Amino acid sequence: MSDQLPELIDPVVFAERQSHIQGRLNLRRLDRLADILFDGKGELKVDLQFYKEGKVPIIEGSIVGQVTLVCQSCLQALDWSVDKPVKIGMVQTIEQADRLTGEFEPMMVSDEKMSLPGLIEDEVLISLPDFPRHEQKCLQYQPAVKLAEPKITKQESENPFAVLAKLKITGDQ
Ligand SMILES: [Zn+2]
Repeated sequence: MSDQLPELIDPVVFAERQSHIQGRLNLRRLDRLADILFDGKGELKVDLQFYKEGKVPIIEGSIVGQVTLVCQSCLQALDWSVDKPVKIGMVQTIEQADRLTGEFEPMMVSDEKMSLPGLIEDEVLISLPDFPRHEQKCLQYQPAVKLAEPKITKQESENPFAVLAKLKITGDQ
């Protein structure tokens, strides 16, 4: 099992070959997702099986992992488990889309290759809540903010003013 996911895939060819993709995807590769995350920590485990249902290429599998969302109440980090089942039927016409059974989500594809990280990103984005919030009432339990009193430490160096005046009186004259 390789951890390296391909960047571009040809879903039709993958389906014909019954390709199986497994790997990890660093969140830093997903710009649109990164925009709504609290930070870029975490990764997604991707497991996708490609096959054909009649003439329609299918992608079936799962995307699981941990991300950190921004709580919409307190704007702090909110740990979130991603567990998105994937069941996509790749269609090229509206008729094909209509013939798909309900369990598959139709996705229009062209003959061109598609971005695998982009597809994963789309799947994760639709699985996330619009207004994620901590389960507890996070705002009420926030401790009152106390500003620490500034401590000024005086460290005046005591420069001894040692003024030595020497008065030489020469009585030679
Ligand atoms: Zn919160």
